[in-house]
Amino acid sequence: MPQDMKILITAGPTHEPIDPVRYIGNRSSGQMGAALASAALTAGHAVTLILGPVAFPMPPAARRIDVQTAAEMHAAVLREFPSHHLLIMAAAVADYRPKQIHHDKLPRQGVLTIECEPTEDIVAAAAASKRPDQRIIGFSLESAGNLDRAREKLARKHLDLIVYNPTATMSSSTIEATLLWPDGRSEFLGVLPKQEFADILLDRALKWFTLSKAVDTLEL
Ligand code: C5P
Repeated sequence: MPQDMKILITAGPTHEPIDPVRYIGNRSSGQMGAALASAALTAGHAVTLILGPVAFPMPPAARRIDVQTAAEMHAAVLREFPSHHLLIMAAAVADYRPKQIHHDKLPRQGVLTIECEPTEDIVAAAAASKRPDQRIIGFSLESAGNLDRAREKLARKHLDLIVYNPTATMSSSTIEATLLWPDGRSEFLGVLPKQEFADILLDRALKWFTLSKAVDTLEL
């Protein structure tokens, strides 16, 4: 396996503010990010973690960038990706944010309608700027059996690999993962503790990508 790679990992949710005290978010814990970072560090690589709001402890040897919103994560990923070989986009980015952020705390007053707009598709933006020496892995959290939706995202977002996992993965210590590759191959890994899965994912991905050549040629 190639050594001394620079790996960029996003994890956790994003919080999209409604007013000074409320937000739209999700239950992502960041555990997968911690497991991936620890797998990469143990294998001798350098890790940058871009994290939404998470309480889960991260390996201290990773460089850590904290963000709140999808827009902040978007800016951080586009800034950091050029100096990394591999992006693993494990973050559960909010797909929508309120169109308007209220300056004052909203009072309780009958029915509340919040108009939302889509957030930036971060991984698709990174893929659009990808050099031939870089690789991107995405995650696709779907209701059970929705492999086709994961395959569609792999193609539409121009990823090198996508990890299909059912919604039960969120904030669990285990993951039931299927790896889907652009050439149509798929590999069902079964239910594994997240750390064991992270070690396998990194090993599989790095072998497949044969990044050793990229490491030699990339000027960071
Ligand atoms: O949310 P979705 O299932 O579409 O996520 C698929 C992949 O796209 C994940 O790797 C996720 O981190 C990424 N994503 C993103 N920007 C978004 C939504 C999802 O980069 N706004």
